[in-house]
Amino acid sequence: ATPTAVMVGTGVGATNGILIKGADGLERAGKITIAAFDKTGTLTVGHPTVVNFKVFQSGLSESQFLRVVGAAESQSEHPIARAIIKFVRSKLSEVQVDTPKDVSDDAYLNLPKVEDVNIVPGEGMTCRIAGSEVIVGNNKLLKDAEVDIPKDVLSHVGEIQRDAHTCVLVAMNRQVAGLLAITDPIRPEAAGVVAALSRMGVQSHLVTGDNWQTARAIAAECGIVSVHAEVSPAGKAAKIEELKAPPMKKSLSGIVKVEHRNAPVVAMVGDGINDAPALAAADVGIAIGAGTDIAIEAADFVLMRSDLEDVAAAIDLSRKTFRQIQ
Ligand code: ADP
Ligand code: MG
Repeated sequence: ATPTAVMVGTGVGATNGILIKGADGLERAGKITIAAFDKTGTLTVGHPTVVNFKVFQSGLSESQFLRVVGAAESQSEHPIARAIIKFVRSKLSEVQVDTPKDVSDDAYLNLPKVEDVNIVPGEGMTCRIAGSEVIVGNNKLLKDAEVDIPKDVLSHVGEIQRDAHTCVLVAMNRQVAGLLAITDPIRPEAAGVVAALSRMGVQSHLVTGDNWQTARAIAAECGIVSVHAEVSPAGKAAKIEELKAPPMKKSLSGIVKVEHRNAPVVAMVGDGINDAPALAAADVGIAIGAGTDIAIEAADFVLMRSDLEDVAAAIDLSRKTFRQIQ
């Protein structure tokens, strides 16, 4: 394509809310064969809410449980943490009718003091509250801390995850204290985009830090067949490198040969700090405009309208600009 065609293409993108950072990215977009999507904030709207909670520890009241979780999560900036704090505030202000109604003031909620905070990206957080060791996060975080998850708790967790919800477990002094079920609606256009990409010859993948069951349930609702779950932020970039690798073929002599003709061109679509390494590792990084600055910086394209349909539109624009009829 001529420089003029690239300028025109970039301009058409801009008027349609697709920010294109460079000609190289625009050219590669037309050749994309795999689109890897992050889950939270990308396939989903990214506004999680608590739908349910349950206390397992005997002698621990619901409001005591909520105070501990609320205090712990006040130290995290994860969207799930924000959802939990909002829920805790509204629940506790129901109980405390006599106190001032300023829900932005945590002091009246009697949230306990939090010490020794340790944020574990993609898993949750640990801290110390009133002498107790507190762990808030996913199964892996609890398992790594050698917290035994009883059978009845596990069956609850499974039920929540099969409903496509995320389960946040809470342990106090290495015993499961309770859990919360979090939901985050899927973007209405997600399934349509996956189908459109498929018609364009682009295969969609899901790459998420969330657990396998939730990931599979969300993927199924979007029509995505290839799922990579329980992936750490660094693991997301490694997964992109894996997808970029040309398919291997084993010959009769056992020698692995690389097929150069079919090297996939991989796009990563993401919104979070967690996605930045994967956005940079991908042939084409596509950031959701509503995402974090770090993701936007790492990407080649920014979807200013935060509309997933613009993933297909960006590919289409590139193909038209570079006249690649595929
Ligand atoms: P995604 O890849 O879907 O955007 P993340 O990598 O940010 O998700 O997080 C993966 C999982 O780690 C979450 O689904 C959640 O179970 C858990 N997690 C991360 N941070 C927290 C937190 N502050 N509180 C509770 N759970 C958390
Ligand atoms: Mg995300």
